[in-house]
Amino acid sequence: MRIVRYSDGGPPSWGVLEDQTVKAAEGQPFVDLAAGDVVGSLDEVQLLAPVVPTKVMCVGRNYREHAAELGNPVPDEPLLFLKPPSAIVGPGHNVIYPEPSNRVDHEGELIIVIGRTAERVSSDDAMSVVGGYTCGNDVTARDIQKSDGQWTRGKGFHTFCPLGPWVETDYDPSDVRVTCTVNGDVRQDGHTRDMIFDIPFLIEYITRFTRLEVGDVIMTGTPEGVGPVKVGDTMSVEVEGLGTLSNTVVAED
Ligand code: MG
Repeated sequence: MRIVRYSDGGPPSWGVLEDQTVKAAEGQPFVDLAAGDVVGSLDEVQLLAPVVPTKVMCVGRNYREHAAELGNPVPDEPLLFLKPPSAIVGPGHNVIYPEPSNRVDHEGELIIVIGRTAERVSSDDAMSVVGGYTCGNDVTARDIQKSDGQWTRGKGFHTFCPLGPWVETDYDPSDVRVTCTVNGDVRQDGHTRDMIFDIPFLIEYITRFTRLEVGDVIMTGTPEGVGPVKVGDTMSVEVEGLGTLSNTVVAED
């Protein structure tokens, strides 16, 4: 099943995508969701980010070549950080280039969406708490990430967390291609099989210290090829089988 969130002028609603048609949702995601009445075709409906998490858990340096390209060592354990959920934007929404930064990078990533409350889950049981997967862009003010010495501001500017276009619930994430283009030029082209810490390990590691709630997301890290964007650029993250997440960079008001 493909889960979407959309707006048709009223408050945000859950929906189900079937072929190119958005249908209204009956029930709740990961509990009893079913497709109801037709809302419209995919190009008629404004999609929103398909998740409403209590937290956005992120993994840094989870691909060897990406760690190397920024001159960082390969970590011995997952390197975790959080982005504020208010920074989430959906497919087609703008990403604002913040005035305090002179270096904003794209980071295309596979995103895990949690489908069941998860606390101290073993790697053997980890896949049972996953509700689905989507695409994400861990937009980063690289200069501020470095100068601050920790990552809250550099990773957390408003609109720095594009997610979507939908959540696929029936999906094998273990060996899929992750690409990011800027204005159509391929900048990142990796495979999830090259993750240093795989998804079951990450879920065990994360749920050992915090509880993941239904709808929480884990951004699993970015492959090599990160690089700067400028105002007017369109970033498109595609994870094989999960659609394409495109966002254009705009200046602050
Ligand atoms: Mg990242």
